[in-house]
Amino acid sequence: MGKKVVIDRAECVGCESCVELCPEVFEMDEKNEKAKVVLPEGGDEGCIEEAIANCPSDCISWEDA
Ligand code: SF4
Repeated sequence: MGKKVVIDRAECVGCESCVELCPEVFEMDEKNEKAKVVLPEGGDEGCIEEAIANCPSDCISWEDA
């Protein structure tokens, strides 16, 4: 079973840290100034782990895919 990365958007404060660290996986959603996941599976795990570690709201996590 694989895993996918998700953002709890209710908790996202729109700091853009994840987008800067891992632009192929995360993008800003212009409509509400929160991040969204554009590549939930198959992205670079190292940079996703870094984004998880640096998210000030702890709102990025892995889910079973
Ligand atoms: S690092 Fe966390 S709080 Fe910042 S934009 Fe990404 S998901 Fe939102």
